[in-house]
Amino acid sequence: MSITSKSQKFKKGTLIFNEGEVSDVAYIIDQGQVEIFIPNGTNDISVSVLEQGQIFGEMGVIDDSPRAASARAKTDCVISLVKKDQLQERIQSSDPVVRLVIRRLLSRVRSNLKLTVGEETHQDLRQSLGFPNHADDSDVVEKIKFEQDLVSALDNEEFVLHFQPIIDLKDDRLCGFEALVRWDSPVRGLVRPDLFLGVAEETSLIVPLGRWILHKACESFHEIRQKYAEVNQEQPDLFMSINVSAKQVSDPEFFKVLDNSIKSFGLQPGDLKLEITESLYAEGNSVTSWIDQCKRIGVLIALDDFGTGYSSLSYLSRMNVDNLKVDRSFVKVLADDPSTQVVVKSIIQMAQGLKKPIIAEGIETEEQKLLLKALGCHFGQGFLFGKPIALRDVIETWIMLEESQKAA
Ligand code: C2E
Ligand code: CA
Ligand code: CA
Repeated sequence: MSITSKSQKFKKGTLIFNEGEVSDVAYIIDQGQVEIFIPNGTNDISVSVLEQGQIFGEMGVIDDSPRAASARAKTDCVISLVKKDQLQERIQSSDPVVRLVIRRLLSRVRSNLKLTVGEETHQDLRQSLGFPNHADDSDVVEKIKFEQDLVSALDNEEFVLHFQPIIDLKDDRLCGFEALVRWDSPVRGLVRPDLFLGVAEETSLIVPLGRWILHKACESFHEIRQKYAEVNQEQPDLFMSINVSAKQVSDPEFFKVLDNSIKSFGLQPGDLKLEITESLYAEGNSVTSWIDQCKRIGVLIALDDFGTGYSSLSYLSRMNVDNLKVDRSFVKVLADDPSTQVVVKSIIQMAQGLKKPIIAEGIETEEQKLLLKALGCHFGQGFLFGKPIALRDVIETWIMLEESQKAA
């Protein structure tokens, strides 16, 4: 899909669109005022005057019908264009009942509009068009702006990867990193992934973003390996974990990008561990063949957030994954909750039986670490060992630390 974030300037009096035109963009007013009107010979009927932050022209874009009214710049204006795809993809993926209601609503608004033109019922007309209660738009407008900024962020190279260490609990040695994406937005600051990945999923931005993450994580891992080899005079025994979301699994380019990224940076497939969630498993068979393909290539798979989703023990044995990642929510209450200890102990025993070593997430205290270790957990990740940090800091702290551990 393509979302434009281009702004256009309109001089006072300029026609923005005309009644009857077929439309493929809606508009958000960044500056100035816009008048919506029904052309009526020399006596145009003014429907509404819209202000900064309001959206207009969205009706035709939604249902592909010609414009029901005209719009012109009442003052000099700056206006952002919102492409059809951005609205339509959202509507198409919505509940069929919602789609039906939208269609009905639009046709009612349009027929009201025809009936009232020429009659002196401008107030009714305004109401039937949903004007002027545009204050209600602000959340939607903010969401659209957020999406546009997010899409531009990929072109503007505003995404960065941070890396969090994963530790072998047996001897506290570093055994890998998880790559975690952040949006370093010039206007919003460093945005956490849980605040933008949902939108990235909804708009399919996750597909090109996921490709970028894959490539960047491989590039960074190559740098880590090079630096390690330089400092330690030997190749590291480390892996790089990369999160993969549902839409990426159906990306036809996924394996091409994976293969390119591995080859471009001289990595082995087994250097990479792809983290998928249980919810993805619930989506059906395509995931099984996707995992099989990963395994044929030699890439490792970890089942993330284990215990929070749909995990049915019956198909766990059939899941062709290498590791289970026990969710942070278990680790958080582990020390104070004996029943959670029983659950985690059973998960670890089962994982041992299935030869799928456990990685425990979100370890923040020494007590949690010792408990997990006593229960037989293999690997740990959490603030106790290190927070996710930028590549430069990873090399300075972790790679140098490896050297000092060796020296000790
Ligand atoms: P996740 O895959 O479960 O990643 C672990 C999250 O837990 C990370 O949050 C990490 O910073 C946080 N965490 C790690 N240790 C601790 C701890 O000791 N205490 C606490 N309180 N938190 C800890 P983050 O980076 O905000 O990522 C959130 C989620 O966003 C991730 O959860 C993952 O589902 C998703 N995500 C992050 N990066 C990517 C990515 O590159 N691609 C995709 N598809 N999803 C990503
Ligand atoms: Ca993860
Ligand atoms: Ca997780």
